[in-house]
Amino acid sequence: AELAALVAGASIDVPDFPKPGVVFKDLMPLFADAEVFRRVIDGIAAHHGPGSFDVVAGVEARGFVVAAALAYAAGTGVVPIRKAGKLPRKALSASYALEYGEATLEVHEDAFVAGQRVLVVDDVLATGGTAAAAMDLVERAGGTVSGFTVLLELGFLNGRARLSSRAVRSLLTV
Ligand code: IMP
Repeated sequence: AELAALVAGASIDVPDFPKPGVVFKDLMPLFADAEVFRRVIDGIAAHHGPGSFDVVAGVEARGFVVAAALAYAAGTGVVPIRKAGKLPRKALSASYALEYGEATLEVHEDAFVAGQRVLVVDDVLATGGTAAAAMDLVERAGGTVSGFTVLLELGFLNGRARLSSRAVRSLLTV
């Protein structure tokens, strides 16, 4: 509840971004606030408990901010899940539908040791397409998804339903 209040207090609603009718939740003020950022990251690390995951995977680009800080706090490494065409070596791809068109995420095929427990993180869970693709990539690359954590979940988009049987956690659901 304390973490939910922190997320609520440090996010800004931006009407009509990226297009008319959409209210974008901007979490950059949360990242920019030293005290709030530290408490949020420490809270996620404490919830999962020491030793419950071996590495953190973050989704480009805002997921990188959460992933790197969490990995550092938990004493693990961090693996970037990137948008198409950015990775320098052989990568696996997962494409998913957007309202208009398609998006593709990629991860290096050797990013994980077989069976490594991977905590996947992003800033926001909306329709769940990004999260589903990211977890699919982790598993195809040999990792075991130990959970998926976001700071903010847009509950009315029902993304959680696409991630059935996964351990999904959000600090705040609106
Ligand atoms: P989804 O695939 O529809 O679940 O969208 C989630 C992805 O889009 C995440 O990587 C988020 O960073 C981004 N996203 C969607 N809506 C928002 C928002 O309101 N604020 C910040 N990021 C968002």
